[in-house]
Amino acid sequence: MAKQTIRDLDVTDKKVLVRVDFNVPLKDGVITDDNRINAALPTINYLLEHQAKVILMSHLGKVNHKDPEKVESDKAKNNMAPVAKRLGELVDAKVTFVNETRGANLENAVAALNSGEILVLQNTRYEPGESKNDPELAKYWASLADVFVSDAFGSVHRAHASTVGVANYLDSAVGFLVEKEIQNLGDALDKPDRPFVAILGGAKVSDKIGVIQNLLKKADKVIIGGGMAYTFMKAKGYEVGTSLLEEDKVELARETMEQGKDKLILPVDNVIADAFAEDANHKVVSSDAIEAGWMGLDIGPKTIELFKKELEGAKTVVWNGPMGVFEMEAFAHGTFEVCKALSELEDAKTIIGGGDSAAAAIQLGFKDKFTHISTGGGASMEYLEGKVLPGIAAINEKE
Ligand code: ADP
Ligand code: MG
Repeated sequence: MAKQTIRDLDVTDKKVLVRVDFNVPLKDGVITDDNRINAALPTINYLLEHQAKVILMSHLGKVNHKDPEKVESDKAKNNMAPVAKRLGELVDAKVTFVNETRGANLENAVAALNSGEILVLQNTRYEPGESKNDPELAKYWASLADVFVSDAFGSVHRAHASTVGVANYLDSAVGFLVEKEIQNLGDALDKPDRPFVAILGGAKVSDKIGVIQNLLKKADKVIIGGGMAYTFMKAKGYEVGTSLLEEDKVELARETMEQGKDKLILPVDNVIADAFAEDANHKVVSSDAIEAGWMGLDIGPKTIELFKKELEGAKTVVWNGPMGVFEMEAFAHGTFEVCKALSELEDAKTIIGGGDSAAAAIQLGFKDKFTHISTGGGASMEYLEGKVLPGIAAINEKE
C-alpha cells in the first residue's frame, strides 16, 4: 500500500477538510477523556505550521434519525461545541465552531477562514445522509475544501459520507494518525519479524472468528484466552459449566482447531467463580474440570506459564481481546500477566488492537510499554481480519 500522506499534499493557503475522530466520551456535556483530540494533534499542528485553512469534521455519539422523538435529544447530547472548545485550549491557533453541517453560515465561515486557523463543523451525524454515504452530502462537504485528509482511524471501517464519500470528489491523503496505524498494523501482519505470536481473547467467538482465521494464516502461534476459549473447550468435549458459551459456534471452533493443529494454544486451567461478580467465590481448576454452576472468568496460573513460554523469543506479537474479566480485580490477573510478559520481551514489536484490550492495557498501567496501541477498536479488528477498510481504500495512491 502506498497511499498519499499529508506530506504529499500542497496545503499552504489551501482549504483542507480533515475527517478526525473527535468521538470523545461526554458526561453532561463535559469531556471525560480527551485522548482522541490529542491523537489528532500531529496532523492538525502540521497543517497549522504549513499555513493551511483547516476544516475539521467528526461524528460524536449516535443520532437516531429513525425516531423523530429522539433526534433532538440525541443532537443535544452529542453537540460538538465542547469538543471545539477543548481543541481551542490544546492548539495555538484560532478555533471557530460552526453550529451547522451545511448552509450559508457554514459557507461564510469557510470563506472568512484565514491560513493558520481552524474551523470545526457540528457533528457529522446531525445529517441523516452521513451514515448512508449520501453522495449529495459528500459532494457538498467536498465543495467546501480544496483537499481531503482522512485521519479518523476509529471510523475508517465505516463507509460514510465524511469518511469515504468526500474522497470521491477531492484529492486525498491519510493523516499522521492513520499513517501510523496502518504502518504498525500492516507491518505486523504482512512483514512480521518471526516468531510472530497472536494472542486472542475477549468475549465472543462469533466476533473474533475472522481474526482467528486470518491470524492462523499469518502467525506462528495463536494463543486463545478470554471468554471465547470456553466454546473451544466445549468443542474438545469438556464441560464448561456456566461459562460464556456459544453453542452454535462449537462446530466452527472444532473446525478451527483442526485447521490450526498445534499452532493453536488453549488454556489448560482457569479461575472459575460461582457468580459473575467481583466478590464471587472463586478457585482454580484445570480446563477439563469445570464444575456445573461455575463459570470461567480468567485464565489460571498454569495457563499463564504456558502462554509466557509460547511468547518467549517472539519478535512480533499482536494482541486482541482480554484474557479474562479484567474489569473485576479478582479476574484481571491473567490479562495483567500477559501485559507484563509482553512488556518484558526484548526487541519485539508488540501491538494491541481492540477497544477493550487497549483499555485493559492502559488501566493495568502498561500504556507506554507497547510498540503500538491502536486507537480504533472496530477498525483495528477489521484490519486484523484482513478486511479492506473503506475509509483507507478511498484515499488516493501515491503517484
Ligand atoms: P476487544 O474490545 O479488545 O476486541 P472484546 O470486546 O472482544 O475485546 O472482549 C472484551 C470483553 O470480554 C471484556 O469486557 C471482558 O470482561 C470480557 N471477557 C473476557 N474474558 C471473559 C470471560 N471468561 N467471561 C466473560 N467475559 C469475558
Ligand atoms: Mg470490545
